Amino acid sequence: MLLKDDSNGPPSALAVEEVVTFHSTFAIPAAITGNEEILLKRQKQVKAARRKKKQYLKKLMRRVNPKASKKSKTSVMSAPHQSIRTRYELLYESYLKLLGQPYIINSVFCFNCNNYFYYGDNLAMPKRCQVCHIDFCKPDKITHEKGHLARPDIILDYNPIEKRLQYKKDVQYRRLDNIKLYQEEYLKNLGIIRIDGGVHDKKHVRMRDYWQYMDFRERNIKVFIIRNEDLDRLLANQDNGKSVLQLCHWVGEATIDEELYNIYTKDKDFIERTAKPF
Ligand SMILES: [Zn+2]
Repeated sequence: MLLKDDSNGPPSALAVEEVVTFHSTFAIPAAITGNEEILLKRQKQVKAARRKKKQYLKKLMRRVNPKASKKSKTSVMSAPHQSIRTRYELLYESYLKLLGQPYIINSVFCFNCNNYFYYGDNLAMPKRCQVCHIDFCKPDKITHEKGHLARPDIILDYNPIEKRLQYKKDVQYRRLDNIKLYQEEYLKNLGIIRIDGGVHDKKHVRMRDYWQYMDFRERNIKVFIIRNEDLDRLLANQDNGKSVLQLCHWVGEATIDEELYNIYTKDKDFIERTAKPF
């Protein structure tokens, strides 16, 4: 009975065993031994529960703030196609919203069929293009082989709304022949915006960026490269964001204005940022 009370529940196999000992040998030592064993068992259970809680909290933290966790394999592997939104991207996005510019985030651009599709904030690389179904190659392959992709930070799509809806449907139902009829014109109204942080100074990232830029250029798609420092500099003006707003507005204008974009590509910074790094 003593053992049953201590365990706060139905007697376990251990308790039953101890009760047998209790009757067959000497009462007190058996009871004490039983208590100790139960105590040990409980301590183990408490420790296991604590460990479980700790693991759960760790997992939760990783989900809330993926960057806070020590450099996990996934973040290293996905670095070339990072999809974690930086605060600079979020800042730029807030200005896009303010200006009502037609933008898309979390998309993948396929250099095989030249289409973009929504992919979500998935860290893992898409295995294949959702439109043409070609398998993508690994992110560190910077050669011009088929099956490479880009995950632009932001895409501006300045096509008329009815065209955009048509495009969305065509992409969804994989009507490649349909898209080809208007694709050339459609791509002219796209702007790829890169918000680059320090990672883009790394040699292998610079090489990938270079090939990616060339791929977009070959397809007459406009690319804009904004560095985090650019935004910092504009914010330092302390003009309630007016400077950032102007930049954002200007990029939008240049997306639909070939001449304006040509001026941009002759800019010293732009030439430097798109130069062949090797
Ligand atoms: Zn494709």
